[in-house]
Amino acid sequence: MNTLVLVYIITALLGLCVGSFLNVAILRIPEGESIAFPPSRCPKCKSKIKWYDNIPLLSYLFLGGKCRNCKNKISLQYPAVELANCLLWIICVIRFWGISPYYAVICMAACSVLVCIFVIDIHCHLIFYRFQVLLFALASASMLTKQGESAVDRLIGFAAGGILLLVIYLVFLYVVKREGIGIGDIILMAASGLMVGWQGLILVMLVSSISACIVLLAVRIINRIRDRFTEYPFAPFIVLGDLVALFFGEQIIRWYLNLFIGG
Ligand SMILES: [Zn+2]
Repeated sequence: MNTLVLVYIITALLGLCVGSFLNVAILRIPEGESIAFPPSRCPKCKSKIKWYDNIPLLSYLFLGGKCRNCKNKISLQYPAVELANCLLWIICVIRFWGISPYYAVICMAACSVLVCIFVIDIHCHLIFYRFQVLLFALASASMLTKQGESAVDRLIGFAAGGILLLVIYLVFLYVVKREGIGIGDIILMAASGLMVGWQGLILVMLVSSISACIVLLAVRIINRIRDRFTEYPFAPFIVLGDLVALFFGEQIIRWYLNLFIGG
């Protein structure tokens, strides 16, 4: 078998298994529980989940989306997180394995951290410190494993991401007298800048702000929310921007520059 095909198969399977582990982390970290112990239980009836009911994606399908014991519905979030992690890992191999397998693996880990940040912020409106530390570590490691990468660009991205959101935070605090964005969002944007450089950061900011405007406006209209100060999570939109910049940033920037230079 072709080595690359084998890499894809192993990546897909590991991506699903790690996605299953991320589900545990997403559920337990906000509760302050250990992610290693006790073994997985049904969140509704607390019955221990047998190994054959815990196979990523397949068990959900075989059980028809219901707990074997209490027949309560299993949240669609479980297979969605497993599938999302698997697909992101495969895209990492497609985009980065040829550049450097080390870089590809670091990007996979970063994607998994971003998946956790995405889901937890939707539920808790909170970004946990440990995910930010992990992201900073992975961004730094990715800088060292991608050849021809400018450390200066990355550090400018880090500073620009942090300072820009800090300014927005302070303006809101002094003008509107409340927090417009969370401290966690500021740290996440700084980590994003370190991961994709200042050029990629422009894309992260564009994608996150435009997607947030569209989605949140739609949510307000659909739910008929009139309160101007209803809080919404912003990290999922930064994560979306991060993924676009990480996977397609170079192509989008090249295409954009060609519009002016080439045309
Ligand atoms: Zn149950």
